[in-house]
Amino acid sequence: MGAFLFIWNPGKWKWHDLDEKINILRNTSSVSDTWSCVSHKKIKEGDRAFLLRLGEEPKGIIGSGYIASYPFLQEHWGGKDKLIYKVVIEFDVLINATREPILDIDILSHGNLARQTWLSQSSGISIKQEVINELEDVWFSFLKEQKHHAKPFSGTHKLTEGKQNQVVTTRYERNPHARKECLEYYGFSCQVCEIKFHDRYGGIGKDFIHVHHQAVIADADGEREVNPIKDLIPVCPNCHAMLHKKKPPYTIEELQIKLNP
Ligand SMILES: [Zn+2]
Ligand SMILES: [Zn+2]
Repeated sequence: MGAFLFIWNPGKWKWHDLDEKINILRNTSSVSDTWSCVSHKKIKEGDRAFLLRLGEEPKGIIGSGYIASYPFLQEHWGGKDKLIYKVVIEFDVLINATREPILDIDILSHGNLARQTWLSQSSGISIKQEVINELEDVWFSFLKEQKHHAKPFSGTHKLTEGKQNQVVTTRYERNPHARKECLEYYGFSCQVCEIKFHDRYGGIGKDFIHVHHQAVIADADGEREVNPIKDLIPVCPNCHAMLHKKKPPYTIEELQIKLNP
């Protein structure tokens, strides 16, 4: 999965509905917004997005989320005759820097993170693969420390419908922090059929696995904390697709019985 850096410079344009977006996010645990993207050839649906506030103090990361569309051409905010590529970002965290602390840009200039150019003029550049994990860790610790209302493991069980034949994954299943804790506990073998992609496919299969969200939430309105070990479980894409053949999904045990009757 790739990760991309989006830039907001409050000196260039006022974000009039930022508070409105933050409210929607608080109430529904996700909110989408359209952002211009220069790396439109590389960016894919499902990629990670970070939003950096530059130009005016305080400078730093004010949001994160996932890419929720293909890149598309739209008029530039500055001129009607200019077309630029944009993507829809589904935010899971969004902070108003004038009211709440943000992840200070100074933190991004330390250690491994210094390998990335953060002071970018253009929005939607790709974040170097070797700094993504560290950025996620620093962001996660920051949110935990701030007791940010967008609790990193919470959210409603909103399905993000993929393209046809693609396994449907939820926000929980894609949450990098929840995923990491789950995989540290279970490892990378499918908990239904036991396939481990590294054993079967060699190097290209290293660390490849889906994570399935097991808990059934009757009504999607309540926000609740996800327990990455009780609620999430690693499964291969085939077993994952079979689990979701029914709503609510089959349990791991039910599917194991079907596989070994
Ligand atoms: Zn499997
Ligand atoms: Zn699932």
